[in-house]
Amino acid sequence: MSSAIDNPQPSLPTQRLLGKVALVTGGASGIGESITRIFHLQGAKICIADLQDDLGNKVSESLGGEENVCFFHCDVTLEDDVSRAVDFTVAKFGTIDIVVNNAGISGSPCLDIRQTDLSEFEKVFNINVKGVFHGMKHGARIMIPRKKGSIISLASVASATGGMGPHAYVGSKHAVLGLTKNVAAELGKHGIRVNCVSPYGVLTDLSLAHLPEDERTEDAKVGFLAFMAKNANLQGVELTTEDVGNAVLFLASDEAKYISGVNLMVDGGFTSVNHSLK
Ligand code: NAD
Repeated sequence: MSSAIDNPQPSLPTQRLLGKVALVTGGASGIGESITRIFHLQGAKICIADLQDDLGNKVSESLGGEENVCFFHCDVTLEDDVSRAVDFTVAKFGTIDIVVNNAGISGSPCLDIRQTDLSEFEKVFNINVKGVFHGMKHGARIMIPRKKGSIISLASVASATGGMGPHAYVGSKHAVLGLTKNVAAELGKHGIRVNCVSPYGVLTDLSLAHLPEDERTEDAKVGFLAFMAKNANLQGVELTTEDVGNAVLFLASDEAKYISGVNLMVDGGFTSVNHSLK
């Protein structure tokens, strides 16, 4: 009788998103760019919805142009922009199967609630929470009649524990998790899965956003990576934007067909460890 050892599992299929259409907010750079590139490799058509026209168009061109990956200028804080991005994607590629609510900011690095400015607080909530709400609402508008779809939002380790950054950022990422669970509960009956992905620290523009532009040097990048490595659970293993993109890919694919309402931690175990015992 043959065993699993004689017949190892075939490697994971490629083209796992063949025939699917995705809208990726914040897809012009950082984690969103990796998600776009991975989705493209796996056969999806993608619309990047972002504020950065130059970067968004550059990613599109590098992946064969707008027949494969198109760009739509969109500020996720504005419901009308997100609604129009959704309609543009449907007009361009026929439908939407996947919405990735990735656009986000970290906001001011202020950790003192007495000094936290309300306008700064609102700015972070507008992008990180209202932006996600808009993506869910207008994604659902297309998905409900089709009785299928996958909505994935970028939360953070800051969705699972306090002490992980500025108040607005941590509050906003807890809100992303709450929205995810509630919308998953609502949309399940329509065959739509709603999940979020929570990374540990990855080196992107967001990670260094608290520094003035002329201080985002190679040394600053090395400093960020060293800080992350020191505090990581899996020491010596660096988290990359592709690692996060692969987790998003899994939730977007039919391989995750029975997974909804979860917060997939991509944190090397960071939030499940009692750090005082380490
Ligand atoms: P990034 O700054 O590298 O990229 C964010 C992208 O979102 C940019 O292309 C930017 O133009 C776009 N964007 C910002 N505001 C927008 C708006 N109002 N409308 C449309 N697009 C907008 O950031 P990143 O590190 O790639 O982060 C992506 C997501 O992952 C965010 O939600 C972030 O909170 C989350 N995250 C990041 C980390 C990390 O360490 N980098 C860790 C945990 C979670």
